[in-house]
Amino acid sequence: MTKQKIWDSIDEHSQMLEKMARDIWENPEVSLEEVYASKVQATALEEEGFNVTLGLKDLPTGIMAEYGQGTPVIGILGEYDALETLSQDSVPERKIRVEGGHGHGCGHNLIGVGAIGAVLAIKEAIERGELQGTIRYYGCPAEEELLGKLFMLRDGYFNNCDVLLYWHPSSNNIPWRAPCLAVTSAVFSFKGLTAHAPQAHIGRSALDAVELMNVGANYLREHIPRDVMFHYSILGNGIAPNTVADRCQSWYMMRAPKRVMLDEVFPRLVDVAKGAAMMTGTTLENVEILGGGNEVICNQTLADLLEKNMKELGGPAFTEEDYVFAKKITDQFSPEQKTMGARVFQIPPEYYDKDLMDKVVSKPSDEILPFSGDCDPSWVFPFGSTFCATWPVGVFTHTWQATACTGSGIGFHGMLFASKTLAGGCYELMTDSDLMKKVKDEFQETSKTLHYKVNIGADAVPKKVKLS
Ligand SMILES: [Zn+2]
Ligand SMILES: [Zn+2]
Repeated sequence: MTKQKIWDSIDEHSQMLEKMARDIWENPEVSLEEVYASKVQATALEEEGFNVTLGLKDLPTGIMAEYGQGTPVIGILGEYDALETLSQDSVPERKIRVEGGHGHGCGHNLIGVGAIGAVLAIKEAIERGELQGTIRYYGCPAEEELLGKLFMLRDGYFNNCDVLLYWHPSSNNIPWRAPCLAVTSAVFSFKGLTAHAPQAHIGRSALDAVELMNVGANYLREHIPRDVMFHYSILGNGIAPNTVADRCQSWYMMRAPKRVMLDEVFPRLVDVAKGAAMMTGTTLENVEILGGGNEVICNQTLADLLEKNMKELGGPAFTEEDYVFAKKITDQFSPEQKTMGARVFQIPPEYYDKDLMDKVVSKPSDEILPFSGDCDPSWVFPFGSTFCATWPVGVFTHTWQATACTGSGIGFHGMLFASKTLAGGCYELMTDSDLMKKVKDEFQETSKTLHYKVNIGADAVPKKVKLS
């Protein structure tokens, strides 16, 4: 059976894949700085005979790699950016690996490599003449800044894909069915007039403007739909208190279950900023939209397909050592903490007492998932995704516990399970034209109500916010 051969070939590549995932984990790079990770991945794909482009328009760390010809064209998305200050060793207690260093607390060191495991296995099946079509790997930078895929979509890199597949680390094995939150990330820049603080009457403070904007925004919260939320951070202006600040910025992220809600509420936040500028005699120089994704549109036929493959595989092949590691982490949680973490990843209550999710959850969920991503390609192409367990029950993303696990056996074994799930899905899409038609018919139907517009400007370039 060809599908079994595909899964066997992932097992054959498992050492190489684990080594690559660990290598990227040991060399964590934040959004837009993923030079090492992108190079490692592009080189591996090149050596395997893929036609590789490293460096896409405006995204030097973006990758597009292709093998095969003709249709169907299936793209698998990968990511590889890390998080600031989340350095952690691969041990089940808090131990910083590099003081002040970055860490893979969202498991993106596994996402790209897991996708590569799948595309390599499909490539080998095409090579053997057992499959026909084109397989692509998309290395998508800067997911944590919510922008890589937006730029790749704007610049046409996904064009002529029939289907896009993706996975994300989690504590659960469950296809992605429900939308996540739409988000807009924007920096508000105020310009004032500098002065020596004792003669502040001749100055105009941009810092005051930022503070008043934030106060106004907090009053706004009561008068917007309850499920619209926002958070902000004041960006350092590098000016001591003895000088009136002529420059200051506030970085906002606003989230809502739907893009249309943000379209209504975000302009009111801009009005608040304008009011703050007026109150302080400063100028609101710029409202720069950095990025931000729409709520994801999950193709349910693809979710069914990924779930079917996960069930055929039975779950991640965790080792005894993985279970021991997981228990050492979950022992540090109170029962309430563990339950809260389990709920976020939609683990059913009957599994709350597990340390590691080795089961596949099929419960369809219409709950909106409490996170955001740069998922806009899902508005333009049929998009299927799944979560696979790479850390214990109760662990949240962006934590030291997640970082510890994504550099250890738990992460690697969850990643191989994801590789096989994605490759199994590709195999079926490439061999079953009725299935592909069903995926596309569903997409056509869903698309009728969607009117996609890219949330970044035609000339926008990816930017990383400097926090200090
Ligand atoms: Zn993340
Ligand atoms: Zn992530």
